[in-house]
Amino acid sequence: MKDLQSVLWDWEAVIGLEVHTELTTLNTKMFCSCPIEFGAQPNTHVCPVCLGLPGALPVPNKAAIQSIVLAGLATNCEIMKRSMFYRKNYFYPDMSKNYQITQGPVAFCMHGGLNLEVSGPAAKERLHLEGTQPLGSDGFGAMSGYTTHIGITRIHMEEDAGKMIHVGGSSGRITDAEYSLVDYNRCGTPLIELVTEPDLRTPEEARLFLQKLRQIYLTLDISDCSMEEGSLRCDGNVSLRRRGSTELGTKTELKNMNSFKNLHDGLAYEICRQAEVLESGGTVRQETRHWEPGAKRTITMRVKETADDYRLFPDPDLAPYDLSDEFIQSVRDRLPELPDAKKQRFISDYGLPAADAENLSTDVELSAFFDKALRAASSKAVALAKPIANLLLNDVSAWLNASAVGSEALIMGSIAPEGIAELASLTLSGEISSKQAKEVFAAMVETGDSPLTIVEVRGLKQVNDSSEIERIVLGIISRFPEKVAEYQAGKTGLIGFFVGQAMKETSGQGNPKLINEIFTEKLQEA
Ligand code: ADP
Ligand code: ZN
Ligand code: MG
Repeated sequence: MKDLQSVLWDWEAVIGLEVHTELTTLNTKMFCSCPIEFGAQPNTHVCPVCLGLPGALPVPNKAAIQSIVLAGLATNCEIMKRSMFYRKNYFYPDMSKNYQITQGPVAFCMHGGLNLEVSGPAAKERLHLEGTQPLGSDGFGAMSGYTTHIGITRIHMEEDAGKMIHVGGSSGRITDAEYSLVDYNRCGTPLIELVTEPDLRTPEEARLFLQKLRQIYLTLDISDCSMEEGSLRCDGNVSLRRRGSTELGTKTELKNMNSFKNLHDGLAYEICRQAEVLESGGTVRQETRHWEPGAKRTITMRVKETADDYRLFPDPDLAPYDLSDEFIQSVRDRLPELPDAKKQRFISDYGLPAADAENLSTDVELSAFFDKALRAASSKAVALAKPIANLLLNDVSAWLNASAVGSEALIMGSIAPEGIAELASLTLSGEISSKQAKEVFAAMVETGDSPLTIVEVRGLKQVNDSSEIERIVLGIISRFPEKVAEYQAGKTGLIGFFVGQAMKETSGQGNPKLINEIFTEKLQEA
């Protein structure tokens, strides 16, 4: 099989995503009052409504509608005031009422879109840049990436199905199972499905889009968006067409893309597979395929059913939904600052480099923590922004990763924003060196003491007193006359030796910059 890059020279990949998100932060299900809880005892959170027993009547969950409207506003969708719930009929044991409640042609949110910034190595996958905006230059004259617009067709509301476990057999799939178990707890969990236009052109764009969407949903606090636990699930639709063609080719739909890497790798594989089929004179079959990350291949799951097979019709138990202007406005008032706006604010208000602003703004907890630390820095916020960002993106992130506590540690207050601001301030003023800052940070998380206390107790202050340093420098110069002569004869690299001696004498606490300056000056005079 050809590799992705060579395929993309000849073919244009066309990708559209369908993203299912469970509204896990809600307390109750979509049409009944059963609690939503991941990992509960099977079949303990069920009732006549979510099981679809005869005579049970569904009542829509208002909080769920607020969540989908939030999602729509945050992704620039038009909020449709009037929409309806439909029944999508199918037969499978994961849904005991044999239909799923979903929305018809009109969804709560329609015609949205997001701009996607693609930079760094991710930008290299796109070989033909038509339809994109350049992202500026990296300082060496090379384009550092591009911006592209991804249309969002709709976001509709539906209910989740139950979960099946296939027992026996080696694949964990139904085909070779001895028997299957079903857990209806998840049944009726409110789910929003976002469908994109076929505007994505590379697997990297697909990955970045999903990451961006996840950050937005996390910021809105409408879901925990866990790809592992299945509260964020993504299907990838992909087809190929010859470069220059504007017609859509036949697509396949990929399932089981339960990580960002799987989404990328599954699409990349499928693009190469389709190219091979087409180049050998075959045709792509419209079908649903299953990505097997271990075997690195996609296999046919089922040949695509058509919409007609589902016999979609308006649910007679649910009246058409009318959203008032006041309701929509009240949801709009709740919109938090979104990652893109946050990034811009970090750049324009605090002068952060774009890359730092991007890395902070796309992490909900880290960026909230950054804002708190800036508030603690009060009048020094602008000067301390960059050192605080450095601490967060390096030391704090490394600590979060290593201790595997996750960003909740930031919320739980294991580290105080005031402490980080204080530490940044000690580093900026030169009172402690950046190496000492690392030691102080480690002690902060271990003891919970403030940086100032740690610096005092451990006697960590950087020696910045120039008369003190001058005394040490002159002492060293008088002890090493041969080295001084060599230096003066042009072996200026010896400055490292001299600074090293002074650092030793100050037990590593001398300010290296100051020592260097004073040596340079005194060695000339000596
Ligand atoms: P289906 O009827 O199979 O569900 P839809 O038209 O509803 O297909 O589209 C589902 C997803 O597939 C959307 O994200 C859409 O952008 C994408 N899509 C549609 N046609 C194509 C195509 N030819 N190639 C790639 N993606 C496509
Ligand atoms: Zn229920
Ligand atoms: Mg469809």
